[in-house]
Amino acid sequence: MNLNETHDPNRRSFLAAANETGCDFPIQNLPLCIFRRAAEPPRGGIAIGDQVLDLTAALAAGLFVGQAEEAARAAAGPTLNPLMALGNRHASALRARAAELLSAGNVDEARVRRALVPVAAARFEVPARVGTFTDFLCSIDHTLRMSRTGELPPAFRHLPIAYHSRASTVTNAATIHRPNVQFRDKDGVVRFAPEPSLDFELEMAAWVGIGNVMGEPVPLAAAPDRIFGYCLLNDWSARGIQGWESAPLGPFLGKSFATSISPFVVTAEALLPFRTKRRERTADEPKPFAYLTTPEDAEAGGLDLALTAYLVTPRMRLEGSAPAVVTRTNFRYMYWSFAQMLTHHASNGCSLQPGDLLGSGTTSGPTDESRACLAEISRRGATPLNLPNGETRAFLDDGDEVIFRGRAERNGFIGIGFGECRARISPAVEWPPHGAGR
Ligand code: CA
Repeated sequence: MNLNETHDPNRRSFLAAANETGCDFPIQNLPLCIFRRAAEPPRGGIAIGDQVLDLTAALAAGLFVGQAEEAARAAAGPTLNPLMALGNRHASALRARAAELLSAGNVDEARVRRALVPVAAARFEVPARVGTFTDFLCSIDHTLRMSRTGELPPAFRHLPIAYHSRASTVTNAATIHRPNVQFRDKDGVVRFAPEPSLDFELEMAAWVGIGNVMGEPVPLAAAPDRIFGYCLLNDWSARGIQGWESAPLGPFLGKSFATSISPFVVTAEALLPFRTKRRERTADEPKPFAYLTTPEDAEAGGLDLALTAYLVTPRMRLEGSAPAVVTRTNFRYMYWSFAQMLTHHASNGCSLQPGDLLGSGTTSGPTDESRACLAEISRRGATPLNLPNGETRAFLDDGDEVIFRGRAERNGFIGIGFGECRARISPAVEWPPHGAGR
């Protein structure tokens, strides 16, 4: 994949909203999504400005032919898995044709407009059936701040560390229930109760496109083409049970109750202009093994992507105050690239499938403002976060809403955004029904 006319900064859409400065979905982005209107079944679309191009309607109007039509058919159904399985060449053909269709001056504008649905009238779904969700640990700063010894795990600089999380609870739901969990309280008493230390983790995630057959690893040079696209991911974390359950097998129920994602799949091709150097190794750090090294990955494996987390408390909502920024970070701080994560994942012969989701891990950077979860910000609750209205938070309260945004900018290109990953915490359900604990 190379830069092409779909990245042309001079291209404008006939939709005014798509041309506004700071718009997440200009014509240079064209993220894919699955949406539904009222009681209609879910269907595939492409977001542009404040509209979604309904691929079913566009196909019916005969707006796609050839490889772009094949791709549009694969993306028009209730999940994007069929298009992910066809891979990035098909996605590229679809993108090229969609850019033509939505361009200012297109003679078919009237026909294209009839296939548009306002974002405000659409409800967005998880865009693919997630086969597996693997969550990595790619930020050296997050790992050091969360380490009880102040040391990195011995493997950290040799391989991208990960654990298998839960695909069945990847969601775009507006509310997340506080989980009921087992934990050891500060007096050392083991209890079963609503999680007291509920946290967010600001992450990026990659959607796997073409997979690999079991037993056949993916060379690093081939890995970028196996990544179909990206979204924002909130790896909700129940710190109470996480600390209690994780030795010696790692996170389990502390992570599996919910993972929120942004519903728009920003394609690998749309992000091409924003690739950057992967974080460089210093002289005293081990060189990655050959299977985790290519010059291209070192030069362009990173992504210059500004990531922001916001918090809205119930009181802020009542007062009508703007969401408070709690984290500003950038994906370029990550120690490992998504291509390295994918290649390492498959290096033992593990099969990856279209629609598998790879989380980056908390994207913290070196500065205080780039701490990307509350456990880091509040030093595990010891120094609560101060909000602009005087409220404080060590961890999340019921009614708190967490919003992530992501944006890529580079001189000479039109910036693109990811939309929002947003969800509110609702109180734990009463369970077990006849009184918790013992
Ligand atoms: Ca995580």
